[in-house]
Amino acid sequence: MSITAIKGMNDILPGEVETWQFLEQSARDVFGLYGFSEIRTPIAEKTELFCRSIGETTDIVEKEMYTFNDKSEKSLTLRPEGTAPVMRSFIQNRLHNLDPVSKLFYLGPMFRYERPQKGRYRQFHQIGAEVIGVEDAKIDAQVLAMLHQYFVRVGIESVSLQINSLGCPDCRPGYRQKLIGYLELCLDNLCADCQRRYQTNPLRVLDCKAAGCQAATLDAPSVLEHLCSPCNDHFSQVKHYLNILQIPFIVNSRMVRGLDYYVRTTFEMVTDQLGSQNAVAAGGRYDGLVESLGGPALPGIGFAIGLERLVLMKGEQRIGAAMPQLFIAAIGTEAAERAFVLMSQLQVAGVRVEMDYLGKSLKAQMRRANKLNAAFTLILGEEELGTGQAQLKNMSDSTQSLVALDAFVEFFAKKQV
Ligand code: ATP
Ligand code: MG
Repeated sequence: MSITAIKGMNDILPGEVETWQFLEQSARDVFGLYGFSEIRTPIAEKTELFCRSIGETTDIVEKEMYTFNDKSEKSLTLRPEGTAPVMRSFIQNRLHNLDPVSKLFYLGPMFRYERPQKGRYRQFHQIGAEVIGVEDAKIDAQVLAMLHQYFVRVGIESVSLQINSLGCPDCRPGYRQKLIGYLELCLDNLCADCQRRYQTNPLRVLDCKAAGCQAATLDAPSVLEHLCSPCNDHFSQVKHYLNILQIPFIVNSRMVRGLDYYVRTTFEMVTDQLGSQNAVAAGGRYDGLVESLGGPALPGIGFAIGLERLVLMKGEQRIGAAMPQLFIAAIGTEAAERAFVLMSQLQVAGVRVEMDYLGKSLKAQMRRANKLNAAFTLILGEEELGTGQAQLKNMSDSTQSLVALDAFVEFFAKKQV
């Protein structure tokens, strides 16, 4: 039996990879405008990095991590998300000494042991951005404006931005206790997962997809009504700045994020096109995270976009591979050799050229030129080699012109195709 890929880990094939490249390049372009630099961290980290940052009682750490011992019995984990590795690197490399405000972005594969389904995989890709060093709500709005701008740039408009505030270590514990009190009264209506986690991770119950949990928590206390006054002011400012930038948003007080490090502003970009995998991007503030990982007490905010979900949303609007500018059809060994040299010279000169390698008939070569959607074809046979001239055919209007082979490379390289 032939060997297949690991379940939940996908190949990205020619034909679809162009969409990926477009989405990635658009991120580089848009994030560059906002002053972000790329950072690349290793795919694996010490396991404790994720346990300490994401939190022991989160879905990711409890059941989704790819954790294994290496040959010297050290526990390693394939990164399930990008923020913790970026913060680790930020602290280790003392990036705060270079600039009081760091704006970083990353893109690459993440790994979570989840049940594979549409929009949910075990290896998936994120594009993420982080700003470290600013508490001012202007930066929350700026990060959200950048995210908004990215979706406009890639042509995905059927998404909406939902925002919430989760409070801080001053006000959240009081809210948390109140919520636990509320959940205790409706425990029987909660799903098994929520019955298990309502004391360790009560906010997560608000986010549960089970219909019973949603119904039971309809009247649950709202986190927004329990914010301390600095958190309340901060959230008001975020909304104010979004309004003056004309970034549309919806406040969703039930939105919680599945990672422990979030405080204050949290947000999601949601779509109704992908069933229950409805979040295409998510993020928030993580003001205590850098310090808790042993770094300076600097605030931070960031997001991650799920690339597979974006690709699914692009769907039909796929971007195809670039077509050849020229196909050289050759008849006979000598002509094929001349075509081969011409092709190589044209490629050096920056032209996308194709020819036949399989000894096909002229008719079959022309069929291939058509299939590849080549803009021009050049036909070379014994006669053309003799006269030093050949017909260059424009495939879109079938017009032909006689061209000199000696000067062809220079001539065609200058042509706007
Ligand atoms: P979900 O609620 O869908 O499980 P999440 O809260 O676990 O998402 P985050 O950790 O915030 O997601 O990751 C940010 C984004 O990465 C998500 O909005 C989603 O687009 C994408 N994402 C997360 N997990 C997966 C996965 N297993 N497969 C594909 N994309 C994913
Ligand atoms: Mg998840």
